[in-house]
Amino acid sequence: MDLQKLILERVRDVRDYPQEGILFKDITPLLADHVAFAGVVDAIVAHHGRGTIDKVVGIEARGFILAAPVAYHFGAGFVPVRKRGKLPSNTHEETYDLEYGTATIEMHTDAFLPGERVLIVDDVLATGGTAGAAIELVRRGGGTVAGLSVLLELSFLPGRQRLDGSGVDVHSLVT
Ligand code: 5GP
Repeated sequence: MDLQKLILERVRDVRDYPQEGILFKDITPLLADHVAFAGVVDAIVAHHGRGTIDKVVGIEARGFILAAPVAYHFGAGFVPVRKRGKLPSNTHEETYDLEYGTATIEMHTDAFLPGERVLIVDDVLATGGTAGAAIELVRRGGGTVAGLSVLLELSFLPGRQRLDGSGVDVHSLVT
């Protein structure tokens, strides 16, 4: 099976969502295809290798869907990174720039034991703002970032360059 080809077939372009001028990559057709979904989860696990990850961080909301089965396959724990105000206990928060305005994401302060190896998973790497903030949150929480895996990297946006200085292995299944 050519996984990259299957992913490209199952990701739908939606014009003018969530606002005019944006071409949104909709991954719901991929999630609905059991072969594509399993292929993506298996490819992320294979890239890093079993026994290398203690916790998998999923970024709200589509990152949760991919990160949870990846964590299960690693025998690792799952940690949510959420938009501000959604987590019930004490959190670290990071604010980052969007094209217009800012966004804030949070993670529980007690999510990791010191030095745990953490893989961050999300669906799309666009400008890199979200991933960069998630890397900061993991480090502030005492975790060691073992890598970042995304399903899609939008290479016409500077996500990878933005993360260049972070020292994190950026792994995308399709660019
Ligand atoms: P960034 O912070 O890199 O600009 O944006 C990445 C975040 O926004 C990810 O959490 C991702 O879920 C979401 N995102 C941005 N653009 C898209 C898109 O075209 N499709 C999907 N599915 N998510 C997107």
